[in-house]
This record gives sequence, C-alpha cells and structure tokens, in this order.
Amino acid sequence: MIAILKKNAAPEAEEHLIAWIHKKGLQTHVSHGENETIIGLVGDTTKIDPFLLESMDIVERVQRVSEPFKKANRKFHPADTVVDCGHGVLLGGGHFQVIAGPCSVEGENLIRIARRVKAAGATMLRGGAYKPRTSPYAFQGMGEHGLDLLREAADELDMPIVTEIMDPRDVQLFLDKKIEVMQIGARNAQNFPLLKEVGRTKTPILLKRGLSGTVDELLMAAEYIMSEGNDNVILCERGIRTYETRTRNTFDLNAIPVVHYLSHLPIIADPSHATGYTRYVEPMALAATAAGADGLEIEVHDDPSHAWSDGAQALTPDQFDETMERIRDIRSVVTPEAE
Ligand code: PEP
Ligand code: MN
Repeated sequence: MIAILKKNAAPEAEEHLIAWIHKKGLQTHVSHGENETIIGLVGDTTKIDPFLLESMDIVERVQRVSEPFKKANRKFHPADTVVDCGHGVLLGGGHFQVIAGPCSVEGENLIRIARRVKAAGATMLRGGAYKPRTSPYAFQGMGEHGLDLLREAADELDMPIVTEIMDPRDVQLFLDKKIEVMQIGARNAQNFPLLKEVGRTKTPILLKRGLSGTVDELLMAAEYIMSEGNDNVILCERGIRTYETRTRNTFDLNAIPVVHYLSHLPIIADPSHATGYTRYVEPMALAATAAGADGLEIEVHDDPSHAWSDGAQALTPDQFDETMERIRDIRSVVTPEAE
C-alpha cells in the first residue's frame, strides 16, 4: 500500500503520519520526489484501514500495491535509483557504467588487465577472489589475497571494485578491505541468509539473476536486501538456463525494459556469462546498451586461453577497446544527451 501525500503537506504532519503507521507495526519507505511524496507501507497492511488513511488531511490518495516486492517497486519510488559506487562513479538514472576485468583474480596479470580496461573506458574493476565453481576440484579463487590484489589495482587506478561474496561470514572481511561493490552471483541469488547479511550493510550490491530465476524472483531477492535497510542494489541480467545449448545461457534482453517498468533499481547486463563465447559478447553488449541497460559487466583477460576460469568468454584488451568504441556509438544514438 502507498499513500501519496498532498503537495502542500507539512513536514510535521508527514512525521506524525509515519509515526502512526509505525505504531501499527508496519515499516515505511518514504520517497520525496520532485512532484510528490510517497509513503510506502511495508508489512501486514490489513492492520491499516485504507479509507481512514485516505481521509487524513495530508493524504491525496491511497493505492494498493499488489506485487510482493514493495521497496524495490517503482510504485514506492517513481524516480530511478542512482547508486553511488564510490570514486565518483554513479550508476543508474542515466549514469551508464562499464565494469570490466578478469573472471578470477589470478595474480600479477590483474594490474595489467586493469590498466587496459580503464584506458578503454571501463569505470569499475571486476575480478573474483571467491569463485562459485561447479566442481569442488576446480580453482576456487585466491581468497583474501585476491581481495588485496584488487584493492592495490583499484587504488592505483582510482576505480571501485566489484567482487563476489559467497559466504555471510565474509561480510566483515569485505568491509575491512573497503570493497566498493559486493556481487551476489547467480548461484546465490536465493541464498536468503547471505542476502539479509549484505542487506545489513550500506555497501552497494550487484545482484545477479538466478540460473533459472524469474524477473519476480530477482526483484524478491532485491527485496530481501532492501528489507534489511540497504537500498543500494544494482540488478544484473546474466542469462538464464533454457533448452538452448549453443550458448552458455540464454540472454533475456526483455528483462531490461521489464525491470525498468517494474522497479526503480538500475539493471545492468553481463553479456559474458549470458553467452559464454567471446564472439557473442560484443553483439549482446550492444543490444543490452540499446535496450536501455544502466551498464555492462564484461570479462576481459590478456591471455584467455590460459585463464584460470571462463577463458572461452573473455575479450582480450584489444577486443575490449573495439567493443567500448561501439558501445559509445550505441549510447550516442540511444541517449544523445549522454556524457
Ligand atoms: C562471475 O561474475 O564471474 C560469475 C560467476 O557470474 P554468475 O554468478 O553470473 O555466473
Ligand atoms: Mn566468470
């Protein structure tokens, strides 16, 4: 349920209303927009009489929100959310960012790759230090040392880091290392204890869509994070599992406009995991950009055939240079006023 306030509602009257809602045992999510103030009610709304609420002086009208996601719902927050990722990098609401780097942090090649992706125009550095691998015998990531290598490279280049967290027990470590963006991978998209734990921080979260997750499940996963108080959520379409075997996953381009319609949260696309093959990464990166994605996450490796994970879908730095050129071309067509 949302209450849309009258234009001239006094701040004290608004506070009074919020306190009244809290007393009823519900939470509120307030959105002060340019044109209107919306108070979103979260919890057991059967405790509130909508007619009583609507009869209050400062309330313009009351609307039911039937979707199960509330804080992530555009009805609660009509304006696009812009996530501040640190180092002056904003994402969402017209701020388009490219996150690039290797699948896994492997060692001293990280800084070489990082320098190249930054020179090409990437604004955020990715690399996994904790890797979710299908086989327990495959390389599992460098762990804490990998985070240190990311920190060094990102500090040299003044870029925010995006790196995956798999275990709620690692949250404090990620905070200590000042990781700017914690990624929740596709395999953990419904790991509710992990979602709640990162929700208790204020660190931006890059939340990937589950392997077979619906858009609603993605938004409900975001709701888990937001329900704990962290509104800094960036969604990511990275392909879903279908009967198709010619690509690693099936890239659901629809998800980009669908999420923009349903939610105020930014959504980026990951054409690397969505396709699984280097040759398809650029076309799908361009398609996602044209469809209005708020950014891209792309895997880049300087020696893909020797990469410790996901070499088959990595772009070389030279290929990434070209892809970035073309992304800029598409951006200039889709949003000619963009920077
Ligand atoms: C990754 O970004 O390296 C990764 C493992 O992605 P996903 O969770 O989308 O498979
Ligand atoms: Mn990968």
